[in-house]
Parts: sequence; structure tokens; C-alpha cells
Amino acid sequence: MARDHGFHSVRITRIVDETPDARTFALDARFPYRAGQFVTVRARGTLRSYSMSSSPDVDDELCVTVKRVPGGVVSPWMHEELSAGDTLETTLPGGSFCLRENAAPLVAFAGGSGVTPVFSLIKSALATTGREVRLLTANQDTESVIFREALDDLASTHPGRFLLRHHLDDRQGWVTGDEIQAVVTGTLDGDFYVCGPEPFMAFVHRELTRSGVSEDRVLIERFAPAAEAPDAVEETPREGTITVVLRGDRRTVAQHASETLIQTARRAGFVPPFSCEAGDCATCMARVTEGEAKMRVNNALDEDEVAEGWVLTCQGEPLTPHVTVMYDD
Ligand SMILES: Cc1cc2nc3c(=O)[nH]c(=O)nc-3n(C[C@H](O)[C@H](O)[C@H](O)COP(=O)(O)OP(=O)(O)OC[C@H]3O[C@@H](n4cnc5c(N)ncnc54)[C@H](O)[C@@H]3O)c2cc1C
Repeated sequence: MARDHGFHSVRITRIVDETPDARTFALDARFPYRAGQFVTVRARGTLRSYSMSSSPDVDDELCVTVKRVPGGVVSPWMHEELSAGDTLETTLPGGSFCLRENAAPLVAFAGGSGVTPVFSLIKSALATTGREVRLLTANQDTESVIFREALDDLASTHPGRFLLRHHLDDRQGWVTGDEIQAVVTGTLDGDFYVCGPEPFMAFVHRELTRSGVSEDRVLIERFAPAAEAPDAVEETPREGTITVVLRGDRRTVAQHASETLIQTARRAGFVPPFSCEAGDCATCMARVTEGEAKMRVNNALDEDEVAEGWVLTCQGEPLTPHVTVMYDD
């Protein structure tokens, strides 16, 4: 497992076809991780995150499960070009779509490939806690249900503890509010996990709110970036400059108060790489080559990398009047 500034070269040990358009890649990676977390893959000149479908508490291998997105840059390449024995470049696991320490029911709603982190969470919850678990999966048809057999097996080996409902669009149309309410009934004190296509997540979230679930009990994992557009930050210029270098392009702008380095890079007109924007995944890392910066949160870089000037730009703030940040390695 070779290391390259936040990225590790890991070997694919085996590939499993889950459905006609979803494949699991088992990786020879000994990374510590929590159920529900993801790694970010560097491939074809870009970055994509993939949640672990394996559970650190149950499975011997670390696995990611990737649905083929037609016309996409990375997922079709992974499906068509990768074989067992090939290597992938990944970050260490990150993310906070994880189990909380309590005994309350775990209630999950997963649409399509959104089942990936949920499968990991459910396996861990059933194996390491006595919590009640409920899951509603939503898919187009039976053929497209990822982990269908494994989920059905878990439901039959945990009768009374794991309630599983499969919703199939071809038979039932879109998921209804009544179906969601039926899963939620009696679990208002639970933790609610939602992952899937944006309209599915928005609908489930609305129904949870309507059922009286409090906002702090809902965890949502977004597979699509929240926004590529510049963030809305207070525009208060202050003394000093920040120079950003990305793909050979160098731009200098004034510093703004309370702005992170990635926000500055976006204000300068760049679209820098990012994923979690919570200091967990290292996708947005860059090197400070002039001046100094500090991170609000750092759950991804080790001491040596920080000493070499690497910074998570989603968490980095300038400490000196002139700072240069290089995304190019
Ligand atoms: C935290 C996190 C966890 C994730 N976990 C998983 C997981 O476990 N499993 C999984 O399968 N996915 C997961 N994803 C999603 C994954 O990261 C990718 O977004 C997904 O695989 C698509 O990537 P791609 O490169 O194949 O497609 P992209 O290249 O991103 O393309 C996506 C779509 O946009 C269209 N498109 C691309 N470029 C253009 C353009 N210029 N103009 C118009 N349309 C365009 C494509 O045709 C395609 O339909 C996760 C994402 C996040 C953020």
C-alpha cells in the first residue's frame, strides 16, 4: 500500500457483480474506518467518493460498491477497465454518516446505490448493538436492488429486530408518504439515515419532518456534490492576498475575513476538488508554499503532511498577510 500525499495505492483483490449496473470492489486496504464512511478515489484526472459497503465489524475485506452512471467519467471506467490485481488511488476513509452511541432504533431509507453506506451501518448495528433496525429500500425493479439477497438474509436471521421493506417502482410507482410513515411509526426517538437520489432524499426528509422527527435525529449522505458554485460568504476584504495555483493557472485575490482557502479559490474563479467539506476526506488538500494557514478541523492529514505544508483547503484559513496555495502536486 504505497502513500502519495493523502492518497494510497491499493490493490483490487476481487470484483463482484451485484446487479447489471453495480459492482463491488474488494480492496487490499487495512485502513481503519467506521461503518458509513467513504474513500475518495483519484482516477482519470479527477476525484470521486465511494462509501464502504463492507462493515469494519463484520467483514474481513474493505469493499466499495459502485453503480455505473452512463456517460460518467469514473464509474463506467471502473466497471469496464478495472480487474482484480489492478490498483486504485484512494484517500483514507472519512465522513460522519456513522452510528451514534445510543440504543435508539436505527431507521434507514435508501434509494438505489444509496444503500451502500446503509448496508455497512446495518451490518454493524446488528452485529455490535441490540438496536432495532428498520430499512426501506427504493429501486426501479427487483433486478436493480443492490444487496437484495444479503439484506433478505439479515432480515430472516434477525426476526423482530430488523424490519426490511423493498419498494419497487415498476410495481408500486413512486414511494408514498404512507409507506414512509409506516416505517417511522413508533421510532420517533430513533436515528434516521437517508441516502439516495436527491428527489428521494428531499421527499423522505419532508415526510420525516411531517411525522414529528426532530432535525437533529436525521443524517443525510449526499452522493452529488452540494454545489459547485461559490459559497455565500460574507464579503469583508482585509489586508493581504491569497494566491491560488490550480492546473498551472495562478490567480491572486484579496483576503476576505472568515473565508476558508477553498472559498477563496472559488471566489478567484477556480473549481477546486472537494468532497465532504468537513475536514474528513482530504479531497481538497493543497500545499501552502508561501505564508501560513491553520485548519479549523483536520481528520485526514497526518503530522508529517501538515509539517510539509499540506492543508485541507475546506478547513484552512490564512494566518499571514500573503499566502500561496498550490493544488498542483
Ligand atoms: C460521500 C459520497 C459517497 C458516495 N458513495 C457512492 C457509492 O457508494 N456508490 C456509488 O455508486 N456512488 C457513490 N457516490 C457517487 C460517486 O462519487 C460519483 O458521483 C458517481 O459514481 C458518478 O461519477 P462518474 O464520474 O461516473 O460520473 P460523472 O462524470 O460525475 O457524471 C455524472 C452524470 O453527469 C453527466 N455529465 C458529466 N459531465 C457532464 C457535462 N459536462 N455535461 C452534462 N452532463 C455531464 C454524466 O453523463 C452523468 O450522467 C458517492 C458520492 C459521495 C459525495
